[in-house]
Amino acid sequence: MSRRYDASEIEPKWVKVWEDERTFEASEDPSDDRQRFYALDMFPYPSGDLHMGHAEAFSGGDAVARFQAMRGHNVMHPIGWDAFGLNAENAAIKRGTHPSEWTYANIEQQAASFRRMGMSFDWTRVVRTCDPEYYRWTQWLFLRLFERRLAYRKNAPVNWCPKDQTVLANEQVIQGCCERCGTRVERRDLTQWFFRITDYAQRLLDDMDELTEWPERVITMQRNWIGRSEGARVTFTIEETGDEVEIFTTRPDTLWGVTFFVFAVEHPLVKELAEVGGTAEAIRPLQERVRATALTAREEADTKEGVELGVHAINPVNGERVPCFVAPYVLMGYGTGAIMAVPAHDDRDFGFARAHDLPIRIVIQPEGKRRDAATMTEAYDHEGVMVNSGPFDGERSPGSIAKVARWLQEQGHGEPAVTFRLRDWLLSRQRYWGAPIPIVHCPEHGEVAVPDDQLPVLLPDDVDFQPGGESPLARHPTWKRVACPVCGRDAERDTDTMDTFVDSAWYFFRYCSPGFDGAPFRREDVDRWMPADQYTGGVEHAILHLLYCRFFTKALFDMGSIGFVEPFPKLMNQGQVIYGGASMSKTKGNIVEPMPIVERWGADTMRLMMLFAGPFEDDIDWKLIAGDPNRRPGVTSWLGRVFSAVDDAVKRGEVEEPAELVRAAHKAIKGVTEDCERFRYNTAISKLMVLTNEIRSTLDAGGGALEAARALTLMLAPFAPFAAEELWRVDLGESTSTWTASWPRFDPTLVVEETVTLVIQVDGKVRDKLEVAADISEGDAVEAARSSAGARRALDGREVVKEIVRAPRLVNLVTRTT
Ligand SMILES: [Zn+2]
Ligand SMILES: [Zn+2]
Repeated sequence: MSRRYDASEIEPKWVKVWEDERTFEASEDPSDDRQRFYALDMFPYPSGDLHMGHAEAFSGGDAVARFQAMRGHNVMHPIGWDAFGLNAENAAIKRGTHPSEWTYANIEQQAASFRRMGMSFDWTRVVRTCDPEYYRWTQWLFLRLFERRLAYRKNAPVNWCPKDQTVLANEQVIQGCCERCGTRVERRDLTQWFFRITDYAQRLLDDMDELTEWPERVITMQRNWIGRSEGARVTFTIEETGDEVEIFTTRPDTLWGVTFFVFAVEHPLVKELAEVGGTAEAIRPLQERVRATALTAREEADTKEGVELGVHAINPVNGERVPCFVAPYVLMGYGTGAIMAVPAHDDRDFGFARAHDLPIRIVIQPEGKRRDAATMTEAYDHEGVMVNSGPFDGERSPGSIAKVARWLQEQGHGEPAVTFRLRDWLLSRQRYWGAPIPIVHCPEHGEVAVPDDQLPVLLPDDVDFQPGGESPLARHPTWKRVACPVCGRDAERDTDTMDTFVDSAWYFFRYCSPGFDGAPFRREDVDRWMPADQYTGGVEHAILHLLYCRFFTKALFDMGSIGFVEPFPKLMNQGQVIYGGASMSKTKGNIVEPMPIVERWGADTMRLMMLFAGPFEDDIDWKLIAGDPNRRPGVTSWLGRVFSAVDDAVKRGEVEEPAELVRAAHKAIKGVTEDCERFRYNTAISKLMVLTNEIRSTLDAGGGALEAARALTLMLAPFAPFAAEELWRVDLGESTSTWTASWPRFDPTLVVEETVTLVIQVDGKVRDKLEVAADISEGDAVEAARSSAGARRALDGREVVKEIVRAPRLVNLVTRTT
């Protein structure tokens, strides 16, 4: 009787065996000389049970870990939870429970699901960012940054979500709305904590050279986010007051085209200049409206709106006086909050000039052409030749930009300069479920660090965490009252909590030193395991999370705590799991969950469906691949065929394997190995399917297949670990796990492609001969024939009207109808 495949019989059994044998624990034995491999997956939010996105990401991450273990590495594959945050807090409010209760229950649930899926996690290294044992070190790291002035407080306009009742980072505002709840974001002025990530802007760019194995689009997104631009700082003087106003421009070559000057509404000089110009009343409505507008909405501000201030700015390069305006399209947060306006060569300035009937002067003309300012319909921002520009007439732009910048410096009007789009990281949140900021405010000593030996500053359980505009911790009757660590007098704790991106900016270090209570990690542990060998996770973290991890790593390097500046030189983004072309969501009612699939068909089936669906980085449309949920999936049927093939091969025993099967097996080993190295899991699995068929037909023809069956079983382990373990240990009689088995090797002499001679004719005469693969396609044969030297010579440019193809032996190119 043939071997039956039943996931429900074998999977729970191996979950228990792996647990008992502690199969997946990374070795810290100093005599273990295997090379280390840190397989890092982005840790999940515990916002319910695992979803399809987790199933996809972790199926791929687990394949990495298992493949590398079998390739002879000492693998560390840890797991943890990014467990603080608004998600948990809002869910708890909705359910009338405590965020901690809700969070820990979800962690339990997800951990059970991960175990049931057979993920190869080292469970001795778990981190949960909401454990006091963990956030003690988040606070400790905050204090190290505070000591270095990399954490600081300032009053700043911030984005405020009226629904979530908290501050949002610019990054969390999407088209003027809260990323989380979609509510229109407002603007407030609040004193907030920031990390000075802008100090690292240039290094965050430069060190990208080390990220050779990151997806190109992630590199581009980070580069754009940091947004470096080169140009010059130039000083204008206000004629009426003598005030010097600095501007930054990326186009100092257009300085001779300045026809007006614009201040941001919040610019500190505006009040004084409006008084001098007699326009204080005129600009008031604009000031009030801007104050009530969300910061990000300002980026889409109407360029036509603005009010004249009644004063003038003197252009240092030609002494011209131009009128000053105040307008919302100029932002205080970018550059210096004031701009020189060059309407001929900047779109926004052009719109403003046309609306206010201001002069437009062309100072860059396209090569060999003449544009006319009166008839221009848009700004000209391309290359050209400088005109009307005094000493620079005839110079070519943009090459002249650096020249002008140097000249400005010589003349004492300005200097070459660089600016970045990147802003400092706003980290304080007025919500409950986060790590408290370990600072005490003393009336006399100001911001005082909580001494290290008093960490963690515990988050109290008995807090009314309903959102209410101020931090819930401020409403606690006693929590904030504390003695100043310096003078002992009455002082108050900071009542904000940290952005959860702080928690996740360093968790991968903690995995290296689980339970260590002297510091966030031991230097020697991190030296052994890091940088991580592979980081796998969603592209939604392409900017913030990865940027913050990189910033923390550089700061730790500067503190001498680690010896490298990039935490994960290799990054892989899996695709999303969508349904019917759309993302899954409750409102669309199209949510599919992984655990019911695991219960019904097995974890191996769920993994195979995910990984077989397409290239790992591509989106998976579950509607297209899953079909009828009650029908046995194709990959399950295949596992059934694998079971009977391996079992039959074992029963057949040590019978000689035919040369074709040996060759097929070695070709499969070569192909699957290469596919695994490049995350081509879908093609790896299809090669295993082909090999299964080869084994079956060999057995049916009376041949032996034991070695091929062993190779198939081992190569199955990264994708369907339960089935592989069962076959390996039960059918093939091995005593240890596939995890510790060696990945099969191939003999290079057995994988050489067979070749044949392709005869190439032109009009029936032999003109060339080529060695080609025996299985060459007709199209490839024609392509090879047409590009062969002999055929090209014979054709001599004549048109081929017909191709006669007998792949792989013959191609006849016919040039005229006969
Ligand atoms: Zn919101
Ligand atoms: Zn004090």
